[in-house]
Amino acid sequence: MVIYGYKTIKTKSKDGLEIECESCGKTGSTAIQFFQEYLHVFWIPFLPWSRFATTSCKNCGYTTDSESMSPKYEALYKKQKPMPPIWLFTGLVVILLSYGFTYWQKQHKKEVEQNRIVMCSEQDAAPGKIYQVGVDDTKGDIDFLKKNHTKSKLIQIVTVSNDSIKYYKGYQIRDVSEDIMNIVEDNHLGNQFDTFHPDTMSIADFKKLEIVNCR
Ligand SMILES: [Zn+2]
Repeated sequence: MVIYGYKTIKTKSKDGLEIECESCGKTGSTAIQFFQEYLHVFWIPFLPWSRFATTSCKNCGYTTDSESMSPKYEALYKKQKPMPPIWLFTGLVVILLSYGFTYWQKQHKKEVEQNRIVMCSEQDAAPGKIYQVGVDDTKGDIDFLKKNHTKSKLIQIVTVSNDSIKYYKGYQIRDVSEDIMNIVEDNHLGNQFDTFHPDTMSIADFKKLEIVNCR
């Protein structure tokens, strides 16, 4: 349930206006007060609403409001009328900012995704390059032919020749949905690759790998 409603605050008052009272004729005895209505949502000011004013004569007590003001008073009203305080836009600004942030996040994610696809789809292996590839869960090893893996691990290219690559296998096996490229830099984990037992695979097999990510 959204709780909303209207509240009114006094925004400005001014005494001794250079105006002749329409009732007693005295000059400088009329005061004007301005009010601002605003929309609140859960008591948080959301948006300024209508403005109005009242005048009163200190000499004879004659009063007017926005409805009953004569043109002479109205000119004064327009001249003195204050802008709505900026904090009355709080709710609106918060909504706009959160929409903007969500939009930015979406765009950013899309961009990152696109970059990743371009980088990895080339499959152009170079020494030092790291790939996150799908693995066969049951064997705990890289399976070249199976698709739709649920697990992944990293491999790091050591050398590339015309028809094969030499690579180090990563130790960690993680869910395929997890981005594990960063574990290489995690100092707590130590060396993430089995550098003592480099493996070799043909370029043809390498191209069949399910590549999740690379860098
Ligand atoms: Zn008066």
